[in-house]
Amino acid sequence: MNLMVSDLDYGQAPSLDQNLDPYALAKALSGRHLIGGELVQAASGKTFEIYPATGEIIGFGAAGDAEDVDRAVAAAVDAQKSWSKMRARDRGKLLYKCAEALEEHVEELGRLIALETGKALRTESRVEASILADAFYFHAGLGSELKGETVPHHPDMLTITVREPIGVVGAIIPWNVPLLLMALKIAPALLAGNAVIVKSAEEAPLTVLRVCQIMNSVLPAGVFQMLSGFGPECGAPLVAHKKVGKVTFTGSVETGKIVYKTAADKLIPVTLELGGKSPMIVFDDAKIDKAVDGAVVGMRFTRQGQSCTAASRIFVHDKVYDEFVAKLRAKVDAMVMGDPLDEKTDIGTIISPEQFSKVQGYIEHGRKEPGAVPIECSAMPSDPKFKDGLFVRPVVFTEIGHDSKLAREEIFGPVTCIFRWTDREQVLAAANDTEFGLAATVWTNDLHAALNFTEKLEAGFVQVNQNLVVQPGLSYGGVKNSGLGKEATLEAMLEHFTHKKTIIFNKT
Ligand code: ADP
Ligand code: MG
Repeated sequence: MNLMVSDLDYGQAPSLDQNLDPYALAKALSGRHLIGGELVQAASGKTFEIYPATGEIIGFGAAGDAEDVDRAVAAAVDAQKSWSKMRARDRGKLLYKCAEALEEHVEELGRLIALETGKALRTESRVEASILADAFYFHAGLGSELKGETVPHHPDMLTITVREPIGVVGAIIPWNVPLLLMALKIAPALLAGNAVIVKSAEEAPLTVLRVCQIMNSVLPAGVFQMLSGFGPECGAPLVAHKKVGKVTFTGSVETGKIVYKTAADKLIPVTLELGGKSPMIVFDDAKIDKAVDGAVVGMRFTRQGQSCTAASRIFVHDKVYDEFVAKLRAKVDAMVMGDPLDEKTDIGTIISPEQFSKVQGYIEHGRKEPGAVPIECSAMPSDPKFKDGLFVRPVVFTEIGHDSKLAREEIFGPVTCIFRWTDREQVLAAANDTEFGLAATVWTNDLHAALNFTEKLEAGFVQVNQNLVVQPGLSYGGVKNSGLGKEATLEAMLEHFTHKKTIIFNKT
């Protein structure tokens, strides 16, 4: 059933009670930003459609533009003055309350994000909704750490440094893990005394808006606001606004560079978390079953491979190659594709028709590569309800060249390439032969090999014999084209959301 704009009722904000009917909640939230503590329509009155899994329209985003950015920045500038004057620990207390409120809504948020993005509820969406609260709990306790130093600079002078908030922070987020990636930006920015304006991704504005609404029942108006809309119309004016003093961005390399250039014109700091083409290196002495599980998790097959840390280049030692490929195939074959809201589903849908054709394009290209063997896994859902759904069967490519574009470019879909190796130096060189440097994993019981590889792999997040996703408290971010700056730790908060002021008192 398609929702129509004329079905929307702007008269009343949705209740804050947990609502487990994602269709009703999507409708109730549709067509709005959150500005100055209120859910409001775009200044232009324009909206855009949101149509995930089945192809039906389930909601609308407010199509934000420069006028909405102006409204939000004005409210942020105003609100930030008193927010920054609160005791940091009191701001932390409010963030703790936000975490509690979000935790009470885990099931609701999980269902809504599953409907909105097509990510399966059991394997992905509910998990993301739970980590969201954890990110706020982590940051809520950091208030007393916003401290400076005394500097032994001259006996006649008392020299100190203090940490001050930047002011208004613009946070631009993607659609793949919008709640967690947003939390890793707004929690530290708010704790440090900034006001934050989030620009959600046009593919997934509604759950982010719901989080913002829940948090606004705790926070003072204007401190945390959300705009939805398209990149050039709404994201670009946010980055360019003269009163936005910091931009933190997660998205594609291409857009990250545009954001960086605009920020350079204003000489403001940016944090960029961009793409990846993460290597996974399996040695012949590795525990193969564990490594196979690590590949399934690392490749985020349950998220249709839509992850910037996806293990999309798997290097397996020749001696265990056949066993690894057979076992990986069996595991992925056993995964169920279907309705994202169904508890039985492991794998849901691709986010948008554009992304769907991009991923199909890569798969088609791979099929034509001389010698390449595509192993298609799992099975399309049989329910006719999903005949127009954006499902893509996971594909494992073997016997494909290192220089294939499938092995070089970020696909952001359920497609991985497996390579055979025998020589350690060669596999290390191949793993590093990429423009990206976000994550890497090494699978071996040889301690020296593990130490050697973790030292030499060019990546920001390296793991041995496991493949965890980003966690609050662990520094996260890439090198090379994967980005600039790290997130998710105390140091990241200090470095990215405050500036250091030196103050000198002459004692004589
Ligand atoms: P994807 O390729 O997955 O859409 P993008 O980098 O385009 O990744 O999108 C990430 C975020 O950046 C989204 O919120 C998007 O709206 C925003 N965005 C896109 N273009 C711009 C731009 N020119 N300026 C600012 N933000 C943008
Ligand atoms: Mg885009």
